[in-house]
Amino acid sequence: MDNQQLASIYKDILALRWEPVAVRLLRPSEAIPAGVTEPTATLRHCQAIIAARRGWSLYMPPRRHACPDGAAIMGLIPMPPKLQSGELYLLFKKLPTLECARKMIAVRPCFPAGSYEATLVAPLSKANFEADVVIFTLWPEQAMWLCCAQSYNSGERQGFNTSGYNSTCADLTVQPMQTGKMNISFGCYGSRAASDISDFELYLSLPAAQLEIVARSLQKLAQKSIPEARHKIYMPPVMEKVGVQKKNTLDVPAIQINIDAANCLGEGLCADFCPYGVFVMEEQDGRPVPIVKNPERCTACYTCVGQCPAGVIQVLQQ
Ligand code: SF4
Ligand code: SF4
Repeated sequence: MDNQQLASIYKDILALRWEPVAVRLLRPSEAIPAGVTEPTATLRHCQAIIAARRGWSLYMPPRRHACPDGAAIMGLIPMPPKLQSGELYLLFKKLPTLECARKMIAVRPCFPAGSYEATLVAPLSKANFEADVVIFTLWPEQAMWLCCAQSYNSGERQGFNTSGYNSTCADLTVQPMQTGKMNISFGCYGSRAASDISDFELYLSLPAAQLEIVARSLQKLAQKSIPEARHKIYMPPVMEKVGVQKKNTLDVPAIQINIDAANCLGEGLCADFCPYGVFVMEEQDGRPVPIVKNPERCTACYTCVGQCPAGVIQVLQQ
């Protein structure tokens, strides 16, 4: 798959507001690819990513990096002494002691100075270079689906590494490059103050080598799980009654299950999906229909209601 195809899979399935951003750290002596522009203004790495998600393809040598912390973390320049010592974090009142600042700096993902010569950023669909990572701007539900897609083939849990400091440089660029693993970041003091990421958005960065396999998993999830969850098919119609006190609070809530058997398709999804075996399929008038055999087991999870293709099951709580 090429970058254009990958970008449209992610954009369409997740309903992304913003184009994913391809990021590459230019190796020493590597040629500058065609199609990228050196901006006239200096930008922070987080601001360059915001510009890229709006369509810009940028070549960012150290002279165009406005944030020395970010440029040094990505190995473009040496870390300025006041940032290296941690004293600036105290002046900004972001950390309480030098000891704490030094610890945060020591464990932060970082490349040695001189490792790279520039950063390249571009909207994924237009990226004319091989990305190291791809950065997504997401709301939490979209990030959840990318986590599911990442776990889809391996069954592995995802772990994230962030401190709330140095988001787009350390968390989203260096960390996934060093580990080869997806990372989530919620932004940082600098990126929240200096870019237009909204309060309900977060970032997720994927090593570019995993872009295609995660896209394929996402396509599988889009066949059933994603539309079902987005349609909230298990949302019970009883939310307004949740706080109503019953006369006898020890009463188990009475649950009534109604099936419009005349319109039932008889394929038995209700019986298959019910986690408690409430239904049994039986022949009636020469066709299979679900019988509510064990109503006392029902917990009103609404799985059968959500899965029934004919919409003929009603689960009522009195
Ligand atoms: S899922 Fe619905 S249509 Fe299918 S057997 Fe059950 S009640 Fe009938
Ligand atoms: S609501 Fe849940 S527990 Fe009750 S019958 Fe349907 S699937 Fe089974």
